[in-house]
Amino acid sequence: MYKRNKTVQFKIKDLVIGGNNKVYIQSMCNTKTKNVKSTVKQILELEDAGCEIIRVACLDIEDAKAIKEIKKNIHIPIVADIHFDYKIALEAINSGVDKIRINPGNIGKEENIKKVVDACKKNNIPIRIGVNSGSLEKDLLVNGKVTAKGLVESARRHVEILERLDFYDICISIKASDLDLCIKAYEEAARTFKYPLHVGITEAGTSFSGTIKSSIGIGYLLKKGIGNTIRVSLSSNPIEEVRVAKEILKDCKLLDNVPVLVSCPTCGRTQIDLIPLAEKIEKFLDAIDSNIKVAVMGCAVNGPGEAKDADIGIAGGIGEGLLFKKGQIIRKVKQEDFYKVLTDEIKKMIG
Ligand code: SF4
Repeated sequence: MYKRNKTVQFKIKDLVIGGNNKVYIQSMCNTKTKNVKSTVKQILELEDAGCEIIRVACLDIEDAKAIKEIKKNIHIPIVADIHFDYKIALEAINSGVDKIRINPGNIGKEENIKKVVDACKKNNIPIRIGVNSGSLEKDLLVNGKVTAKGLVESARRHVEILERLDFYDICISIKASDLDLCIKAYEEAARTFKYPLHVGITEAGTSFSGTIKSSIGIGYLLKKGIGNTIRVSLSSNPIEEVRVAKEILKDCKLLDNVPVLVSCPTCGRTQIDLIPLAEKIEKFLDAIDSNIKVAVMGCAVNGPGEAKDADIGIAGGIGEGLLFKKGQIIRKVKQEDFYKVLTDEIKKMIG
């Protein structure tokens, strides 16, 4: 149970979204959806990395049809991303999709919107409304500029269409690539809507810059209780998106059973080859489901003290180091044995 902003709740397949439930990690495939083999392969890799909800682009009926086969081979809920065409939405629903992302205001005729909404109701499929700063309606621009209020107003128009049709399993995203604008828009959305919010900074950038931008934006919002699902948008392999999302949730204390690595930045006092050791331990911890805290520190002067609440750690000396538990020194270990001793101790601790 996590302390989140008050929202309604609904299910995507077997995941309950909204309220004080877990914040789920989403990513998006960059394969052609109709290429079932490569899409399934990527989803399984993403599942392994910790992805909990996957979105695929549905550009045509063939993409929507492919969902049926994809679903048979994956384990997490799948979301169809559809622009404008209600027939693609109906086909995706027919294929057993777990959620659709479509903006009802862009579908066109009321009768077609109703067809999609009715099919969603019948199959318990929620709808995500996704507003993006790059495609805001012209009449909502202020002096040609996108504003937070304009983005929220756009979402409100779409929400009202669904509510008029008695549909309430709604999730909303309001994305902008400008950090300030995006944050303001989500804050405004959290005040305006009772629905869960899918949070992300859109087109955040490459692995390096996008990770930083997303961490600031998503992290800030999560800390304020805003956000029920997240996606980190990177110009990179989607696996990276999931890894970053996991770290953000971990640092926001919104993820259970994940290990934490405390490692020193190294300084003139460091006597061991610390950086490769820290990286190797991080990789080892990646595969562990436990909230164990491990420290890899450069010196015995500050090491154990700096990482005193770590469950287990190494503090380097000259050619050897001190093994410590909860800040207490246990014994000396030779430099070449650091990795083995640490990983053995971790395995022992988590059972
Ligand atoms: S733990 Fe020791 S070696 Fe590492 S940064 Fe701190 S003082 Fe330097």
